[in-house]
Amino acid sequence: MIRINEHFLKLQASYLFANIAKRVEEYQVRHPEKEMIRLGIGDVTHALPPACIAALHQAVDEMAREDAFRGYGPEQGYAFLREAIARHDFQSRGADVDADEIFVSDGAKCDTGNIQELFATDIRVAVPDPVYPVYVDTNVMAGRTGLYQDGGYEGLVYLACTEANGYIPQLPAEPVDLIYLCFPNNPTGATITREQLQTWVDYARAHKALILYDAAYEAFIRDDRLPRSIYEVAGAREVAIEFRSFSKTAGFTGTRCAYTVVPKACTAYGHDGRPVAVRDLWNRRHATKFNGVSYPVQRAAEAVYSPEGQAQVKQLADGYLKNAAFVRRAFSAMGFDCVGGDNSPYVWINGRRDSWAFFDLLLDKAGVVCTPGAGFGRCGQTYIRISGFNSFANVQKAMTRIQAALQ
Ligand code: PLP
Repeated sequence: MIRINEHFLKLQASYLFANIAKRVEEYQVRHPEKEMIRLGIGDVTHALPPACIAALHQAVDEMAREDAFRGYGPEQGYAFLREAIARHDFQSRGADVDADEIFVSDGAKCDTGNIQELFATDIRVAVPDPVYPVYVDTNVMAGRTGLYQDGGYEGLVYLACTEANGYIPQLPAEPVDLIYLCFPNNPTGATITREQLQTWVDYARAHKALILYDAAYEAFIRDDRLPRSIYEVAGAREVAIEFRSFSKTAGFTGTRCAYTVVPKACTAYGHDGRPVAVRDLWNRRHATKFNGVSYPVQRAAEAVYSPEGQAQVKQLADGYLKNAAFVRRAFSAMGFDCVGGDNSPYVWINGRRDSWAFFDLLLDKAGVVCTPGAGFGRCGQTYIRISGFNSFANVQKAMTRIQAALQ
């Protein structure tokens, strides 16, 4: 008899986006004449940068030639891309990361979801609340939690991110082994300072814990005082893995390319306390279960680091940042407490009412789609998330309508 992994049955159906889609559909039936503005999704809206498109075309042409065609590449990614990443994203900022510590993949979603396979099932896991759901659900599937009760899974340590702590999780009262951090944060848009991040690195070192640092939104950081990488913080190489993605940086959500950094010094422990290099485990896993990102896509990602590519991706992110800042200013002017919107494409707005009620109000009265904060965790109950991923004209129109609806 083939039996299932019972842990899958603990998973809560992802009501969030299905529920949003249902409400939007019902609204369209009621108001077929109304144009809706979607500021809820975390997907980019602008086309790929021209430098990436040119590199893609060229690589596709190479694939058509007998003398240039490439079959399987290295599972970890081509050296041309790993070296460009190490140089531009880390070494240029004084962060000590080598090309052979970079693992190119088809997405930060897969990597943040898969990484937990390397660790024992009885470790204690801490996640932020509100949270990018992938961190939680993959630990549920692996059997590291109990049942879902009152908005959370038993056995997980939820790190509250609230107005009271500036949306930066505090060190846990109970010891934890694996810590998920995400900055700039999805969904709150909050950023972390070097000193705050140092506190977490020091904690991890003292407790032989490991930090999984999701920096998928790093490209939106404009304040030079903020760390772009956890490896800008002293002592992080031994206790942190970092995830990056070209999705939001360069509009690759549909093209798919990301990478994970696992420094050689990064250490976890065997049951008898012997140290083990996490990089070697991840390398083994990656090479066993993944066969590399396609050559044209890696060439397109490499083009992000050319001078033209750098200028073009900056322009893309600047556009989304301008939208997010506009949203934040408009909500703040109406008296709402907000976080994000600078150094982040997301704005997290405290509506001071049930987040689904606020969602319905904005949809019904303004024809604007946002994301209800309750979908990201208990601490999101009174919040909504608005993203800057749209055109400036649409964002302006949306805010004019929202202002009228809330008067
Ligand atoms: N990490 C965070 C925090 C995200 O918000 C997202 C996408 O929305 C991802 C990772 C996934 O990125 P990718 O497109 O590389 O899978």
